[in-house]
Amino acid sequence: MPPSRDETLEIVTIPCLSDNYAYLILSPDGRSAALVDAPEAAPVQAELDRRGLTLTDILITHHHHDHIGAVGDLATSATRVIGAAADAHRLPPLHLSVGDRDVFDLFGTEVRVMDVPGHTVGHIAFYIPAAGAVFTADSLMALGCGRLFEGTAEQMWDSLSKLAALPGDTLVCSGHEYTQSNARFALTVEPDNPALARRAAAVDDARAQGEPTVPSTLAEELATNPFLRAGLPQVKAALDMMGETDAMVFAEIRRRKDVF
Ligand code: ZN
Ligand code: FE
Repeated sequence: MPPSRDETLEIVTIPCLSDNYAYLILSPDGRSAALVDAPEAAPVQAELDRRGLTLTDILITHHHHDHIGAVGDLATSATRVIGAAADAHRLPPLHLSVGDRDVFDLFGTEVRVMDVPGHTVGHIAFYIPAAGAVFTADSLMALGCGRLFEGTAEQMWDSLSKLAALPGDTLVCSGHEYTQSNARFALTVEPDNPALARRAAAVDDARAQGEPTVPSTLAEELATNPFLRAGLPQVKAALDMMGETDAMVFAEIRRRKDVF
């Protein structure tokens, strides 16, 4: 049985820079918060101040500047900075270095580390079963996935497959607002997927209102995200790749998106 979702662990989505997202995970007593990624200090600090929160932890997903640029500005001497041991040489100083399957405590709740290479080789995700949420940054994204800057298509396919095995109601808290263009691309792969057409329309509505399209749920991604669906017969058939491996089909979808 998966643990039931702990509604006391509130997650706050914070738009940063032009299209990044940071997330605050609030402690059950409402006094502290952990930040997932630090693209920009001002919007995060404003949210902390508005809610009267102390920043106790910063969880880093990967080394790109738009995810770590504000760690130095936001961390105090009391802030625990957590990131991938494998990338410690290119991350801000870490107080806790973690790797695949490591577990650490956050506000009395278990956080599970998942290695999700592909976008970068040291990219990790943070899964919090009690919150029913996974923080994926630039691995699994809403209707998309990160570009393969350092890893291989095989690595990213493995990473996405691990994430796809989490419970369907898991909230996918990803790193960027790319969903509208991801939807346009997804429709070129699966023009006849009704769930995708509905989601693309909902994404357009949300963006027209200036609302974020994240978090999504894993079930939504499984039904609509072409990068997660590379193993399905109908997707392989649509790409004329019936005899190919799932990873090969994923690689082709990623290649098409790169030039979309
Ligand atoms: Zn990145
Ligand atoms: Fe990024």
